[in-house]
Amino acid sequence: MTVTAHPLVTRARELADGLLSPAAERVDQDGVPASHIEAIKHSGLLGLNAPVEYGGSAAPVAVVRETAEILAGACCSTWFVQTQHHTPVTTLTATGLPVRERLLGPLARGELLSGVAYAHLRSYPRLPVRVRRQADGWHFRGTVPWYTGWGLNDVMLLAGVTEDDEALFAFTEARKQPGLAVSEPMRLAALTASRTVSLRLDGLRVPEEAVALRLPFGDWAATDRPKTRNANPAVFGITSAALELVEEEYAAPLRLRLEGIRHRAYTLADHPVPHEHTEERLALREEAFTLMRTTTTAAVVSGGGRAMSVGNRAQRLAREGLSLLVQGQTGESRTAHLQRLAERPR
Ligand SMILES: Cc1cc2nc3c(=O)[nH]c(=O)nc-3n(C[C@H](O)[C@H](O)[C@H](O)COP(=O)(O)OP(=O)(O)OC[C@H]3O[C@@H](n4cnc5c(N)ncnc54)[C@H](O)[C@@H]3O)c2cc1C
Repeated sequence: MTVTAHPLVTRARELADGLLSPAAERVDQDGVPASHIEAIKHSGLLGLNAPVEYGGSAAPVAVVRETAEILAGACCSTWFVQTQHHTPVTTLTATGLPVRERLLGPLARGELLSGVAYAHLRSYPRLPVRVRRQADGWHFRGTVPWYTGWGLNDVMLLAGVTEDDEALFAFTEARKQPGLAVSEPMRLAALTASRTVSLRLDGLRVPEEAVALRLPFGDWAATDRPKTRNANPAVFGITSAALELVEEEYAAPLRLRLEGIRHRAYTLADHPVPHEHTEERLALREEAFTLMRTTTTAAVVSGGGRAMSVGNRAQRLAREGLSLLVQGQTGESRTAHLQRLAERPR
């Protein structure tokens, strides 16, 4: 079966064309509605990485990427809320701890939507969130600077660093509870619609049976680091959507560039050794960003003054593209990106 004929790709396309894309400018201004989340929950897309025996699809990686491109190109805010769910699913799939039996099925079948609060681990040795074991479970203290989907997702996978220098990930309900204070939703240059907040943890208690992952920080970092080096499929989704707003004579050469960069990026992402070819991966990540910025600029130029209206698609895509530049950013990718921007001729 080709990727485009896969049922999940067909479903993503139907959702994109029938619901997400027509509403995207309104959602950008008003927020992701609960009805969009219901549609995502019923689509089967939340289980695309999950094992079949838990109700998921265990879809090939090419299908995972294609659906991400389609959703991000249609409505980046909705894509962004639902994409947080996939790390909890893969974490549960990999664990042998009891929480797997409680949550993997509901997450795989789309009965529950999960958010995630772990990017702050990447600022190690700075420890924005610490976890301490006490008689009644694990207690989290500190600040989660970014948490997307507040009020939309049902549970969250929360991470911190223990006194023994372990990364600890555990599930808790995504609602106000003792030891958890939530900021107002942030007003952002883009993706305000994703209901992103910061979380203040003041002894939030999570029972032992909610722990999904606990391992030495260095071991966690070694598996996490390669994930932030590859180009994000959402970048190609925004690029494709922007190209639809540009006259064909100008879009055609940009589309050829898109196909070339995407092919090289995905070939490298499929390389069996994730920690090899670091420089090439980071270079392609930057090339993908640069092409995205070129195409969203072309879409704005093409639209003229109308493109500055807040209800216009071109400016929305340009803003959403900006936010992707810093998603999953690490010290390493930040430096590589800046170096290439500084070196680029013109
Ligand atoms: C709208 C939005 C929503 C998000 N939602 C979530 C979410 O739901 N869950 C989640 O886990 N994460 C979320 N994130 C976090 C996101 O994935 C990235 O981790 C984050 O954007 C990285 O940037 P930071 O500035 O917060 O991190 P920082 O840790 O401040 O910086 C990123 C990296 O750059 C380095 N760095 C920063 N400044 C400098 C400097 N001046 N000199 C040298 N190095 C520097 C740091 O060492 C670090 O490695 C969200 C981010 C945004 C913007």
